[in-house]
Order: sequence, then C-alpha cells, then structure tokens
Amino acid sequence: MTGRLVVCPPDAEIANHTHAVVKLASGRELRFVDPRRFGRLSVARDFEAGGFEPLEVQLNQFIGLFRGRKTPIKSALLNQKLLRGVGNIYADESLFRAGIRPRRRAASLTREHLRRLYLAVREVLREAISLGGSSVSDYVDAEGEEGFFQLQHRVYGREALPCLVCQAPIKRVIIAGRSSHYCPACQR
Ligand SMILES: [Zn+2]
Repeated sequence: MTGRLVVCPPDAEIANHTHAVVKLASGRELRFVDPRRFGRLSVARDFEAGGFEPLEVQLNQFIGLFRGRKTPIKSALLNQKLLRGVGNIYADESLFRAGIRPRRRAASLTREHLRRLYLAVREVLREAISLGGSSVSDYVDAEGEEGFFQLQHRVYGREALPCLVCQAPIKRVIIAGRSSHYCPACQR
C-alpha cells in the first residue's frame, strides 16, 4: 500500500524518496518513489511482455484478438497478453464510450462493436496521456490503478450516480475480481 512507479523525461526533477531510476529504450525514465520504504523491486528474466500496444495495433489485429473468446469483454481488455497497458479504469471508460456492457462475451461482439471499442480505447488512452502531463502520464498507484484522476470519469467510481448521458444510475459489478462500472441503459 505504498510507493508508485512514474515514467518521466530524464530531465524531470527527481522527487524525494526516489529509490530507483531505470532508463527505458524510449529515452524516458522509470522511477520508483516510495516514501515509506515498504515496496520491493525485483528483476524477472525471460519476461514476455506479449500483447499489442493499443495505440499501435491495427483495427483488423484488434478485432482478431477477441474472436472466439468466451470471456467477458472487460476481462479480455485487461488481459495483458492481448493488449498491453489497458488498466481497469481505461477499460471501463472505453466500454462506456463504445456502448458495450463489460460482461458481454467477447465472441458475441460484432465487427462494428469492436470497431467502436477500438476507437474508444484509443480515444481514452490519448486523452489520458494528453491530460496527464509528463510526470504523471504513466503513473500507477499502489493498487495498480492508472493515474487517471485528471480525466473526468464517466462511469468509473460513479456507482449509483446518474449517467452523464441518460441519467440512469451507474451500476457496479465485479468481473475477474475487479470493480466494473457501466450504464445499464447506454451499454448493451
Ligand atoms: Zn447512460
């Protein structure tokens, strides 16, 4: 319940309690900041990152990822072997924008659904990156949630509050152990 990982340009000021700085291939730095010193870092060998970069994957590749998958679309979006870096909040917000319920089986989605989802994921990630600024754009907190705080959530964390589009109360369910938020009227 402590510490955070931050990706930032190498000339960014080093925050107090920065215990590790890792240079990334992109030229940016991954920094581990842990004021309470309860965190641990370890190096994993033969690490398989897998998955496509959501901002680089082509539409046809994206559609192919979900074909035949019987898991809920939300779980598939969080599966890092399919797409890298789509976290819990990004997934909920993307599904809302695409009008798809998180529990829908991935395989039941039409090409058109998946096209909308493809565009929504890219839109949400681009907004998060552009709003995040340099030092918090890749912020992950101790529970692994993204630093999405600067983008107004439309569904995430809004259980029982009115949908910003239709006023229906936002619902919260647990899928694959994660909180999932959706509008029962806007998402089918
Ligand atoms: Zn709604």
